[in-house]
Parts: sequence; structure tokens; C-alpha cells
Amino acid sequence: MTEKKRQHLSLLYDISELSALVADSKDIDSFLQQVVQSVASHLNAEVGSIYLLDDRTDELVLRATKGLKPSSVGRIRMRIGEGLVGMTMARMAPFCDGTACDNPFFKYFEEAGEEPYTSFLAVPIGRGIEKIGVLVVQHSEADYFEAADVMALRAIAAQLAGTVANARLMMGLQQTVRPRSTTELMERLRFIKGEATVPGFALAPAALLKPEDPLLSDVPGADFRTSAKAYQRALKATLDQLRQLQEQLVRRLPESAALIFEAHHMILKDPRFDRQILNAIKLGMPAPDAVRQVARQFINLFEASPDPYIREKARDIEDLARRILFNLRKGKGTSKSPIDDHIVIASQLYPSDVLRLASESVAGIVLVGGGVTSHVAIIARSLKIPMIIAPQGDLLTVPDGAQVLMDADAGTIYIDPSDQIRRQFAGRNRLRRDAAEKAAAMQPQSFTADGRRIHLMANINLLGELPLARELKAEGIGLYRSEFPFIVRSVLPSEEEQRLVYARLFEQTAGIPVFVRTLDIGGDKILPYLNLPREANPELGLRSIRFLLKHRDVFDQQLRAILRAGAKADQLGIMFPMISSVDDFEAASQAVHEAAASLARDQLECHPSPLIGAMVEMPSVLAVLDELAALADFFSIGTNDFIQYMLAVDRTNEHVAGYYQPFHPSILRSLSQIVNCVRRYQKPISVCGEVAHDGDFIPFLLGIGIRHLSVDPQFLPTVQQTIASVTIQQAEAYAQALLAASSLREIEAVREKWRKNRTDRLTVTSA
Ligand code: PEP
Ligand code: MG
Repeated sequence: MTEKKRQHLSLLYDISELSALVADSKDIDSFLQQVVQSVASHLNAEVGSIYLLDDRTDELVLRATKGLKPSSVGRIRMRIGEGLVGMTMARMAPFCDGTACDNPFFKYFEEAGEEPYTSFLAVPIGRGIEKIGVLVVQHSEADYFEAADVMALRAIAAQLAGTVANARLMMGLQQTVRPRSTTELMERLRFIKGEATVPGFALAPAALLKPEDPLLSDVPGADFRTSAKAYQRALKATLDQLRQLQEQLVRRLPESAALIFEAHHMILKDPRFDRQILNAIKLGMPAPDAVRQVARQFINLFEASPDPYIREKARDIEDLARRILFNLRKGKGTSKSPIDDHIVIASQLYPSDVLRLASESVAGIVLVGGGVTSHVAIIARSLKIPMIIAPQGDLLTVPDGAQVLMDADAGTIYIDPSDQIRRQFAGRNRLRRDAAEKAAAMQPQSFTADGRRIHLMANINLLGELPLARELKAEGIGLYRSEFPFIVRSVLPSEEEQRLVYARLFEQTAGIPVFVRTLDIGGDKILPYLNLPREANPELGLRSIRFLLKHRDVFDQQLRAILRAGAKADQLGIMFPMISSVDDFEAASQAVHEAAASLARDQLECHPSPLIGAMVEMPSVLAVLDELAALADFFSIGTNDFIQYMLAVDRTNEHVAGYYQPFHPSILRSLSQIVNCVRRYQKPISVCGEVAHDGDFIPFLLGIGIRHLSVDPQFLPTVQQTIASVTIQQAEAYAQALLAASSLREIEAVREKWRKNRTDRLTVTSA
């Protein structure tokens, strides 16, 4: 560890000691003074200052300083956005300038006497959506502060937030919120627009998760047990609860359940954690304080790590401490708020909270203000919990039990919705019932109107989608996207972890073919823990098979895991995304053979003869398709990417969305060319992109010879109905007409005619 890092760590310890003292001393001014002294001396800064936000005037006020004139305390004031300090607060982001006096935003205060200080570093202090103040260090030498200083100051600001928030309260700087009547509040909050995060609908009573801050302050009115015995009982209860939660979750999110509490278990296994708490209790500290103190030390250590993923784990320690403290409370059984079938409104959530809410059948989540981590959104999405992020802090004052309607497709929230809004929502429910009826009518095999068999398979992202795919009689898994187990983790999953996930996939798909796609990361699917260099054009960068061929260890582990887990699978296909040349395909196939050979050497059971296929997603493949078709066992057309690359339109860029045209003549003609070529080699070919469930596109695909489609499970019934509504002859005529058209305008005319004829056909059929 460098000298600087060591200093930063000891600074964190000092601050945590100070925070612990403030509750007793109640001397806020001297506490703030000690903080700035300590920060300035550890960072070797000539100036250390703290500014707190005065809610009454909306100004930042200098409350303590080491280095500026003591007489300026309480006198230097600036608005949010004014000067470098005000700007730091406005942006709620650190600001570092090695030559601050030249900065156009620099504001000179004569009474501060700060002329000679050139280097300036400021970090905001905030908690959730609450703005608290700004912590500043300065030095006369230019470019004095480094990235490590920014990190250390951020960690301190995060650690100080709770205590300083209390300090503001005690100093009367925080406006006391005028209590509003429930009616007034409901009137104001009737309709709220937030950010749609996970789509879905819910109409349910509200349940508020009130922010507790058990680490820095006592929960008002909470009564804790304090002995070593009580701590040990609370620890055991926590372990049991974590185990139970894990078991419940394993059913809903098998890929990640074991990992969600990974950090919790790691800390619980660390003898220093337990020993330090017990030692502190032995020395006379009450158990809750001992838990807080030791947890805080661990949090400080984690937060000081240069690795962002270790820093994120600090939140897990907080969660663990929260659980232990909850179990230390007397009469805890009665204080639990029921969230079953409720819409939870919260200002901060941990990934493990989302899982707990899911296991308790939460109807939806409204997250107020910041605090969302990508993990929270990903987990809510995978668990299909409708979720909206809303900036309105007032939402936290909605009374428990008030009726809330959330339309998480649009990001709108209605508190106490009118009858008319409720009726609209009931319509949505009816749509869902229709879908359920269609599902019941699903046949095990799909046929065109003239009896041609079409194989209908499912695309699977999450193991949790498998039961629906089986219920809807999917004839195979045409695409298993293997990214999810990699995305939910904070480190690369080991071969064994992957094997366990894939084993569940194969267990639930006995008797039907499964096509596993190897890891397709890069582009918009980033694994931050890999710390890969930023790319100017990630969609054209080290994506997918390119990443795997460059990182053979990752590729080999995944292949070994798939081959082992699928050892007894009836039909196992392994396919590679983003293949752009024969060379890439050969290299990737070679990797499969080598993985099988290495498993044989290790005497581990593996699938003897997996089919090896290529996804057709790149235009460059068109010119070498004959050679590829001779080599590959099967093909699957990933139209999402094929359209993106063929038309040079980033599929995630809304500004060019108009250019993303699946019916573009070049796309239609290329698809036809691909199918013709592959069929000459008598190799199976399927389509697994989004167009495979598009009612207008399916007849075209059938018309050019596609006989295998793979779609998200919920689309299986409508796709089967579309297939049943056309004959192959009609589909071929439609495809020919589309292929003859050379512009989007002509193509639109063909589609228009097709749609009109289809209405006639349906009228004739139903007559
Ligand atoms: C595709 O590109 O069509 C495809 C199925 O793969 P993904 O959407 O996962 O890139
Ligand atoms: Mg793709």
C-alpha cells in the first residue's frame, strides 16, 4: 500500500471515530472543526472547509474552516450554482481544478483570504435526494490534488452524510417540512411522471419503506438487546434468514440467488468481524453500538478500495449490519410492514432488498430519487417487478395503504386513481386474460393453413422463463442468451458456477433441443468488472466472439461448463454470435474441440457430439456463406444485429431509429440469399431476432423457406396463430412480391395489399 493510501485509510478511521463522538458531545461546531482539521492534515492541504446548505435561504454557508480566516465562518454564503462550491452542489459531483483561480466560475471572497490557493478540490455531501453541503480542500501549489485524493474525499463525504445531516438539523439549517393534510397531499400527488425502469402495471395499496440509518444513528424509539448472548442469537437469526431468502429466491432467479448474499457470507466468515464485535461488547459497549462500529470500519475499508466493485460491496455490509441490528431489536416481530401485494415506495434499495421484496410478492416498486444501481434495475427487470424511478420526494409522505396505480410502461404513477383511470387499467388486465386464453389454446406443434410443419422454439434470457416456455409447448430453446449469469455478478463466474446454471437449463429442457449461444458481451452489454478499455464504437469493437477469441480462458471455461452441464442433453447446439469470417468460425469451433479434449483429459463427463453453429449477424458473412455452410452444423439468423450492421444503424440509438428498417429491400433480399445458400447444403437454419414474432414478417420468412423460428416465450401463441393463418403458397407469393420491390415505398404498397388480403382471408375463414 502506498503511503498516500495508508494516510487516506487512517483518515477514514479518524472520521468514523469523530462521527461516533458527535452523538454524545452534541457540540456540532467543534465536531465540524475537527473534521476539517483532520481532512486538511491527512490530505496535506493548506485549507479544509465545510459548507452546509441553509434550507431557509437556499444558500451554502461556510460552517468550519482550517486555513481560511476564522472570521469568515458563517459569513461566506453562496447560492447553489454560484462559484465553484455552489457549482459542486448543483452538479452533485466532485470538482477538481489544478488552477482554480483561472476558472470562470471561481468566485473571490475577500473576507476568506483565499487568494494564494490555486488547487481546489470539492465534493458534495448528500444522502439520497437530500443535499447537505460541500467539503473543500485547497492548496497553493498548482495541480496538487490527485485522483486518490478525490476518492478519499468522496469516501469521507459519504461517511459524513448522516452525521452532518443531523448536525444541520441541530443547527436549525434544515427547514422543517410543514405537515400537509392527507387530502392536500393527495391532491398534489394525484399524477406523477417518473422514469419507466421495468415495464408492467400494478394497482395496489402503498407500503412505505422508511429510510432507516441504523449505522449512524439509533432508530427512534427502537429498543435493542445489548448483551453478547443477544448478539450471538441475532447473528444466528440473520444467517437463518439469509439462508431462507436464498432458498425462496433460487426458484425465481436461479442464476444469481447464491450470489446476492455472497458478500454477506464473506464478511460473516471473516473472524475479524465477529471477534471485534464480541471484544467490544466484552469491553462494555452495548451490542448495537459494537455492530455499528465494526461494520463502519469494514465499510470504510471497502469504500477506500480503488476497485469500484469492492466499493459497491460496502452497501452489502450496511445491509448485513441492518439485518443484525433488526434482529437485536426487542419485539421486532410486530414492527414489520406487510408488503405482500403492495406497491413499495422507497428512497433507497439494495439488490438484496429487491430480492426480499420479490420473495414477499411485491406488486411494484417506486424508487424515489437517486440511489438506483444498475444491479437493482437489472434484478427488478429479471424478476418482472414493475419499477419506476421518480424524483418527487413528496412521494415518501404518501400514507401507507393509499391506493396507487403504476403504469411502468409509461412511467406514470396515480395516487388514489379516479374510476375512469381504474377502468382503463382494468382494460389492460383484460388484455392479459386474453393472452392467458390464447396460451391455453396452444398446440404442441405448429402448422401452416395448408399443413406444413413449422418448428416453434423459445428464446430464453433467464432460467425463470423456462416454465412459461414449457407451458407454451416450445419445441426447443432456439437461443439461450448466456449473458445474464455474467451480468448479475461482480466478478466473472467460475466454470463451476456456470456449470450449475447451465445444469438447471438442461434439467428443465429434457427431451427438447437446446441451442446455447456463447457469451455475447460488449456493445450495450458491459461487464464493468472486466475494466476493459473504453471504445469509441463499442458495437464495432471487441464484442461477442471477438472478445472470447481474445480471452481464451473465459471462452474455455464457458465451453467446458456448457459441455459438462449438457453431458446428457438430447440435442445440444453451441452457437457463436457475431461471426464475421470463416476464420473466426474455425477458431471458435476449434475451441469447442479443445474444451472437449481437455475435459476428456480431466476425466470429466461431457457431451460427446454437440452441434456447432454460427449466428448470421454480419453482412460480411454473405460473401463466404458457401464455405461456412459447408463447415457449420446449423445457422441461426440474428436479425436484430444483422439489420444493425447491414444498414449501419446503431440499434440502441434513437436518433437513427428511422433508418432501422427490417423491411429494407437489402435486408429482405439478403435474408432470401442466406436461406437459399444454407438450404443447398441441407443445413438447418432458424431466425431468432425480433422479426420472428412480427405478424407481417413471419409470412415473408415462411415464403423464403424458413421452417424454424425462435421467439420470446410470451409470443409463442400469437406466432402459432399467424403461421396457421397462411398457406405456404400465399407466403411465397408475398415474399416474391416483396423481393421484387426495390424501395421502401414499393415495399409498403406490397405490405398494404397483404394486410388488406389478410383481413379478407380472416373474414372468409371466420364466416
Ligand atoms: C439478434 O441479434 O437478432 C439476436 C437474437 O441476438 P441479440 O439480440 O441478443 O443480439
Ligand atoms: Mg445479436
